[in-house]
Amino acid sequence: MTQYDYDLFVIGGGSGGVRAARVAASLGKRVAIAEEYRFGGTCVIRGCVPKKLLVYASQYPEHFEDAEGYGWTVGERSFSWPALIKAKDREIDRLEGLYRKGLENNGAEILETRAEIAGEHRIRLLSSGQEVTAEKILVAVGGHPNPHPEMPGSEFCISSNEAFHLEELPKSIAITGGGYIAVEFANIFAGLGVETTLIYRGEEILRGFDMDMRTNLREAMEKKGIRVVCRDTIVDVAQAADGRLKAETHNGHVFNVDKVMMALGRQANTKGLGLESVGVELDAKGAIIVDDYSRTNVDYIWALGDVTDRVQLTPVAIHEAMCFIETEYKDNPTKPDHDLIATAVFSQPEIGTVGLPEHVAAERFEDIEVYLAKFRPMKATLSGRDERTVMKLIVNAADRKVVGAHILGHEAGEMAQLLGIALKGGCTKDVFDRTMAVHPTASEELVTMYQPSYRVKNGERI
Ligand code: NDP
Repeated sequence: MTQYDYDLFVIGGGSGGVRAARVAASLGKRVAIAEEYRFGGTCVIRGCVPKKLLVYASQYPEHFEDAEGYGWTVGERSFSWPALIKAKDREIDRLEGLYRKGLENNGAEILETRAEIAGEHRIRLLSSGQEVTAEKILVAVGGHPNPHPEMPGSEFCISSNEAFHLEELPKSIAITGGGYIAVEFANIFAGLGVETTLIYRGEEILRGFDMDMRTNLREAMEKKGIRVVCRDTIVDVAQAADGRLKAETHNGHVFNVDKVMMALGRQANTKGLGLESVGVELDAKGAIIVDDYSRTNVDYIWALGDVTDRVQLTPVAIHEAMCFIETEYKDNPTKPDHDLIATAVFSQPEIGTVGLPEHVAAERFEDIEVYLAKFRPMKATLSGRDERTVMKLIVNAADRKVVGAHILGHEAGEMAQLLGIALKGGCTKDVFDRTMAVHPTASEELVTMYQPSYRVKNGERI
């Protein structure tokens, strides 16, 4: 039998790669993991985690305002963007340290270098030019923001990567895109006092989500002063002598702003990785094609996480890594389960969602019941803030199963996690109805909507 340098070589130190390397090493495998930038990957270094910290920061102006209704007088306030970024960076450094420690403690070898596939079972380490061999290679290199080079002036635009390290907070920003990142950052910047415009080509932001969530969130954002321009897109960005940017849209609007941010989806980091040299198949968008067990078409190469463009979410990459370990090192073939993934959009208010939006459920099932509640959250009574919480359950009338749950409101992400358990367990609406309410909470609405607001039968609302 050929003797390889390693049992497993992982390329990419993000959520999926680190988990696979750490657990494989803990099982006694000889593991190396190479990362060219920072351990923790997009999620920890320039994604979910720093984003949520910025979300918290951006909520304080509303907290200060709301405090008055509760008898507080809040004195003079000021905000320092550099102080926030410094504090955020300290926390990210701490988390990166934990990721490294987890690898080291379990005996995985950390290689701080870009690694590329050099041939059969061979990996080249770019920092030294050295080549090593491995029995199995796992590619978990993630993705990067779509740079949209076909748009004139795209070089003047920032992506979420740069948004985390701006030297100063812009006074105005135009964000193009209507997905998670565009919506979340529009709320962050607006919350921090930046004049914010969101420009999205579709008819309503957040395509794919339930329409009640989409329209109610857009309206809430507009109430907060965010300008949302749908059915339009930026087609040209030019820089003026003073550094400001002029963004022109397809419909002829012109926005003069300090920054333009593009949030137009993310692309797999497969370029220059040597995948072609050994014949790994990619899809039309450059993502690695894998089977149900994260195997590529090359028998010693696996891939997981964003580089495979299945579901671009951190917990999904981690789950895929655990399935890889079960299958390859524990003799327990396990397919990742991509069904009923609960997710949150950290907009303000948040969206928390699991299962099918109404329009998909209506196509899939003959008869659905829709339970919809829209109410003023309790906290907004004394604060006087004009906001609404929206909760929606979709039930398949045939078997009474709750097939979709959608929330727009405070802590909707937290609620979505728990609803995820209920839906995964196949709960019927009757179980929801039998569940005692927790009072006074917003989530009690989920177990007290006894009568459907309407039904959709054979695609028709009745
Ligand atoms: P999304 O796929 O969510 O959204 C991309 C947006 O860009 C869509 O609105 C899309 O429009 C638009 N778009 C794409 N190409 C063009 C184009 N050429 N011209 C104009 N508009 C275009 O990607 P994001 O970049 O927002 O986020 C990437 C991924 O990261 C998400 O899919 C998500 O999985 C993950 N993520 C998750 C978060 C969370 O869990 N809270 C937070 C942030 C990211 P259209 O809809 O019309 O196609």
